[in-house]
Amino acid sequence: MQTLIFATGNKHKAEEVQNFLGEGFALCCLKDVGITEDIPENADTLQGNALQKAMYVYQRTGNACFADDTGLEVDALDGAPGVHTARYAGENKSSDDNVNLLLKNLSGVTNRTARFRTVIAYIDGCGKPHYFEGVVEGTIVEKRHGVGGFGYDPVFMPKGYDKTFAEIPLEEKNKISHRGLAMGKFMEYLSKFDK
Ligand code: IMP
Repeated sequence: MQTLIFATGNKHKAEEVQNFLGEGFALCCLKDVGITEDIPENADTLQGNALQKAMYVYQRTGNACFADDTGLEVDALDGAPGVHTARYAGENKSSDDNVNLLLKNLSGVTNRTARFRTVIAYIDGCGKPHYFEGVVEGTIVEKRHGVGGFGYDPVFMPKGYDKTFAEIPLEEKNKISHRGLAMGKFMEYLSKFDK
């Protein structure tokens, strides 16, 4: 079994990624490698934030590791919240607060197209970064639907579906989601070294 260090303390993300990886991989998260402090995340791009998180863990542990950063880009809001997605409603605000602000800012807006974008930064055993990106198109619905998932899932309906991410089973979300697509590219990269 191969062990992968994922620079996250978010248990929902870890669960999604573990579900994606299946039984062939053991995932270690931040607390498993003894990192309990908040990792700085103040770059102005998703790639920059993913790199910052992964590099922090690489420098602390000396091991290959990966991190992801996700942004929600809403067309009617000129691509906001984008890189500020996690802190849209302000520092120390909850996901609920973020979703409430998003719905408020889109109140009465008819163009509700949006996309989730994830960038994974993988630092290999030599300290070299590699990037993998996944994007899923969709729309922001007018009110919350579903109880699964996390973050903005209850208000994001992927294109071609009549359900939000919070109503779609995890296995299915992983097949079409930003993080699932980025993970697919990352796994394809790693598989080259198995041969
Ligand atoms: P980060 O990548 O952990 O910085 O996430 C940025 C923000 O996007 C946070 O508010 C997350 O809750 C949200 N987010 C990340 N991934 C997802 C997802 O798959 N669904 C819904 N919200 C997400």
